[in-house]
Amino acid sequence: MSARPKKSFGQHFLHEKRYIDSIVSAISPRDGDTVIEIGPGEGALTLPLLTVARRMTAVELDTDLIPALQARADKIGELHIVHQDVLKVDFTRMAAEMGAPRLRIAGNLPYYISSPILFHCLDHSGVIEDMHFMLQKEVVDRMAADPGSKVYGRLSVMLQLACRVESLFVVPPGAFRPPPKVDSAVVRLVPLPAEKLPTVAPQAIDRVVKAAFGMRRKTLSNTLKGLVGEAGIIDCGIDPRARAETLSPAQFVALAETYARQRG
Ligand code: SAM
Repeated sequence: MSARPKKSFGQHFLHEKRYIDSIVSAISPRDGDTVIEIGPGEGALTLPLLTVARRMTAVELDTDLIPALQARADKIGELHIVHQDVLKVDFTRMAAEMGAPRLRIAGNLPYYISSPILFHCLDHSGVIEDMHFMLQKEVVDRMAADPGSKVYGRLSVMLQLACRVESLFVVPPGAFRPPPKVDSAVVRLVPLPAEKLPTVAPQAIDRVVKAAFGMRRKTLSNTLKGLVGEAGIIDCGIDPRARAETLSPAQFVALAETYARQRG
């Protein structure tokens, strides 16, 4: 069973056992966990996960892969395969229908839509215990970056305001068939509890963050002109001559609160 990988579905099948083992042990599924895998493909992660979790659900878009995967999984445990675009899956409803308090989501993601998948999952973070994703290393570096880093940007701020982000390990191209052109990395995301989430509307945060990073080299007084005036920036205890890449996620929240207040 070895389907020809489809580029249009972002298919790079993981075959190196040591990386498969490392991912499964990073997830550490427990019997009774509600594990949901995005893009099971030929089952490189699904089958070892199923061996421990006994029951799990996988969301796969490519019909051609489903019968063989189902047949192999049936020998191990109970695998429910949902044939759908993961961006259309309502995880909140899925959790309610399964009677699961929290979902544990995992996947070696199709890189062509990895950011939309991340943000889609975050829309359902209230029902998610944790997420373990394989992504392009460059994306994981941006997700986990600290202020001051060259790669700290909009993705770092928006994710870190919603989750604890932990970059776990790098996986080289040779671990996949066919090998992707870039290094990959595995990241763990743990959604923050409701009381730690910003209370200001996410749209206000996104607006300010987008504007601030729109021109990275310019000062905040320049990039936020028309959104938060210089006085508003100073009120937040921030130097208007500072640049976006030096601000912590919490400082962006303060700016977004000022922006939302000024708009009334
Ligand atoms: N998990 C397998 C592995 O590690 O070998 C396959 C990983 S491959 C990088 C990505 C998988 O996501 C493929 O099986 C692909 O068909 C599936 N996929 C692509 N787009 C998808 C989508 N929108 N929704 C669900 N699955 C998708």
